[in-house]
This record gives sequence, C-alpha cells and structure tokens, in this order.
Amino acid sequence: MKVTFLGCGDGFSIEQGHNSALLTFADTNLCIDFPESNHLGLHQLGMKLNQVENIFVTHLHEDHINGLQKLALFHRVYPGKAKPKLYVPAGLIEDLWQCLRHGLELTTRGKRVFEDYFDIECVEKDFTVTGVQFELVQTLHVPEMLSYGLLCKPHFYFSGDTRLDESYIRDIVEEVQTIFHECHMQDDQLPSHTSLEELLTLPKSIQSKMILMHYVDDYVPLDVREKFHEEHTVRLAEPLRSYEL
Ligand SMILES: [Zn+2]
Ligand SMILES: [Zn+2]
Repeated sequence: MKVTFLGCGDGFSIEQGHNSALLTFADTNLCIDFPESNHLGLHQLGMKLNQVENIFVTHLHEDHINGLQKLALFHRVYPGKAKPKLYVPAGLIEDLWQCLRHGLELTTRGKRVFEDYFDIECVEKDFTVTGVQFELVQTLHVPEMLSYGLLCKPHFYFSGDTRLDESYIRDIVEEVQTIFHECHMQDDQLPSHTSLEELLTLPKSIQSKMILMHYVDDYVPLDVREKFHEEHTVRLAEPLRSYEL
C-alpha cells in the first residue's frame, strides 16, 4: 500500500493544500477526505479528477469536503471508469448532501440526487475495498460533532481531526506500522486538535511510528523542517510525499 499526501495543511493553509491522503493499492485508489486543494495535488501527480475511484469522508468541516462538488461535476462532464464510490459514515450522509446539493441538485437536464453523482456506501463500522479492510474510529474533535479516523491493519491508523486519544493510540500501536496523526503545531492549545507538546509525552516507541499532518504553514520551509527533524522522533508529512506501507 502506498500513502501519498495530496495536502497536509490545516484548515487555513495556503501553501500545503488541506489535509488529504491518496492511498493506492490493489489496482485502485482511495482518497481520505476531498478538499478543493486535491485538484492541484492530483494534477502534480499526473492524475485527473476522474481517476479518483474511492473517497472516504472523515467529517464535515469544509477543509475536508470542499472539493467534492467539483469532483462530482468533473465526473459528470468527463466520466471515468465508473462513478466515484463515496464511503460515508452513517450519521453524515444527509448532512453531506445538504452541504453539496446547492450546486448539484438542479441541472440543465433536470433534478439530480446524491446517488446520480456518487456510488454511496453508508458505513457503520467498517468497509472493504478490493480486499483491504478499513475500520471506522470515532474521534475526539468537536463535542457532539461526528468525526472519524481510519484503522487499516497492519498498515496504518489515520487519526483524522482529533484531540489526542492516548488510550486508543496505546491500544492499536502494535497493530500498525505507521500512525498518521494530526497536530496543529501551534504554540497555543486548540481545544479541538492535538498539540506537539501532548504527542511528545508519549513513549519514543510510539513517537517513532508517528507522521504528523494537518499543521500550519510555518513548517513548509526546508530549513525549519530539517531542524524539526533533527530535534524530534516524530516526522512531518509533506505534500506529494509517498509512504510505502
Ligand atoms: Zn481539518
Ligand atoms: Zn475538523
């Protein structure tokens, strides 16, 4: 399995693209979240929007879904092999359509529904794509807001947006090769995200499996990134960088 970050910036990032990973495996691909910035990321990888085959949505903050309308329209105008398959946690489907429908429902050829654009799979606990299983993990992002990470044993855990859930990380660390964990990398504590300070309290054996994502643009310059890597065991994800798992 190959994991390529199309973007690893936070919700306000200008330079890195918003956080999203493209997984390629078994002759297919799956994007975790679909921000608008994925269009450029995919273009830089030599891919078109209609080559995206599967998408998983972690939650409905706009930096994770604001490319879905464009993806849907692109597939209608330039059809790929099939409609993109959209894996959506059960509690998010109706709200996701409400976010998207204002630009998709009415067309010159009549009224459209969500299923006209996507092959939608409602996910309760897990889903399987060409033999690879992905388990939903509810995260601690915004109180009462549904948000999820993905566990894909033995490859990775992808935290999505969350505060640190230390007991969960300790539970699964031996079962995966890599933990892609969000970290805002800002000095002030954000109540809905994870700070570097918190991650540095974890044992080095856990930190050594961690690749941080969804962070501010301050760490884009190479010298800043290199200095960070000299001083820490955790690594920073980089846009368009791939990880073989
Ligand atoms: Zn976010
Ligand atoms: Zn969020």
